Amino acid sequence: MTTTTDLVSYEDALASYDPVMGLEVHVELGTRTKMFCGCSTELGAEPNSQTCPTCLGMPGSLPVVNATGVESAIKIGLALHCEIAEWCRFARKNYFYPDMPKNFQTSQYDEPIAFNGYLDVQLEDGEVFRVEIERAHMEEDTGKSTHVGGATGRIHGALHSLLDYNRAGIPLIEIVTKPIEGAGERAPEVARAYVAELRELIKALGVSEARMEMGQMRCDVNLSLMPKGAEKFGTRSETKNVNSLRSVERAARFEIQRHAAVLSSGGTIIQETRHFHEDTGSTTSGRVKEEAEDYRYFPEPDLVPVAPSREWVEELRAGLPEQPLARRNRLREEWGVSAHDMQSILNAGAIDTIVATIEAGADAASARKWWMGELARSANESGKSLEDLSITPAQVARVTELVSSGDLNDKLARQVIEGVLAGEGTPDEVVEKRGLKVVSDEGALTAAVDEAIAGNPGVAEKIRGGKVAAAGALVGAVMKATRGQADAARVKELILEKLGVSEG
Ligand SMILES: [Zn+2]
Repeated sequence: MTTTTDLVSYEDALASYDPVMGLEVHVELGTRTKMFCGCSTELGAEPNSQTCPTCLGMPGSLPVVNATGVESAIKIGLALHCEIAEWCRFARKNYFYPDMPKNFQTSQYDEPIAFNGYLDVQLEDGEVFRVEIERAHMEEDTGKSTHVGGATGRIHGALHSLLDYNRAGIPLIEIVTKPIEGAGERAPEVARAYVAELRELIKALGVSEARMEMGQMRCDVNLSLMPKGAEKFGTRSETKNVNSLRSVERAARFEIQRHAAVLSSGGTIIQETRHFHEDTGSTTSGRVKEEAEDYRYFPEPDLVPVAPSREWVEELRAGLPEQPLARRNRLREEWGVSAHDMQSILNAGAIDTIVATIEAGADAASARKWWMGELARSANESGKSLEDLSITPAQVARVTELVSSGDLNDKLARQVIEGVLAGEGTPDEVVEKRGLKVVSDEGALTAAVDEAIAGNPGVAEKIRGGKVAAAGALVGAVMKATRGQADAARVKELILEKLGVSEG
């Protein structure tokens, strides 16, 4: 295995070559039971407690297709503008691997349930790029192996391996693009935008939570280069199981630079799978890639073909949600934000939480401000996603309400949010427990203002002389005296009033 790789600069690579990508995304469906048996798909159970003779591949056991799995596959196909097969079969993909107890994976081969579609994705500058979809097919996940001992966590060098078959048989949909050409230097950005858009679509359909950090959605990045002006694709590499949007972009970028280095020095690209490494942003060689014939596909004899009626397909089509890109464009208008801001909101996974916060009574600007500011920061620090924070959209809406009614200022609101996140209760309970109301008692404020003026005679003199800007120092003194619990605008008014100066 090579540990160091020579690269050429990204710019030089793109000056000589055109990248061609193919993206294969696996989505774990959120069905209650597995694809071909009644075992639970619930996460976090004892290893091997959610298995049965069928998903363990015992002789004589018979699989049955999960109808919800088929329905989800059709919904995904329709949302990707695909044609839906009138009749299709499952196929056995034969290969031996310890995490696959049947020694074959039940998949689909030349008869996918959905084919010939597209997904429009929006790039950072607002430009829309159409990614053509080759197919979406149904299959099942493998079990999970844990290699114990050894430094890398991979099988080489491990002392022994543990196998958990709870995941074996969980429904997967594999979505395969046609070759993506013509993206040029933006190929890595297109890859990222495609996976981001697909994730939004899957979530909108409600067929999976599509959480990449939990492996519910993972992307294989196929990449090849061809010399500028050439028509024949180069040999591709396949970087497997990339599991974040950022990593998808980095993996594509790295492979462009690596391929260019190999080709420019007269070398040949080997068709192989590669592993992506988060820490270095690089890929290393995996195994030499099998061709389809190595898998000896044949139709699965134990399952009846899937023949969805046209009525059912049309019913599912009629029930599709608004396309995420169209929805974002609509929300962008409603919220009055730029394309770039909307992109940040999308990347932060904040669209649904902001929508829910607005529905709970907040105005758009405030909802956006808190989720993209304070809460995004907090999520980042704790390595959580926004929806995992222990604050609800309704609670954030309540905080914005307290701010707009003048009961809280921003500084106090931040403390309230901090309290809610720390488990101290609802916003109102935190306000109560921490004593965090804005001091609106004019008597107390006036006393604090008098004190600040008396304590800073020089500043007061300047203000009297017309230097209104100097009032900031006195406002600061009052805010300090009230532990930040005064309304700064009102304090300034009082100071100017006392000193007989009018603003402006
Ligand atoms: Zn089972």
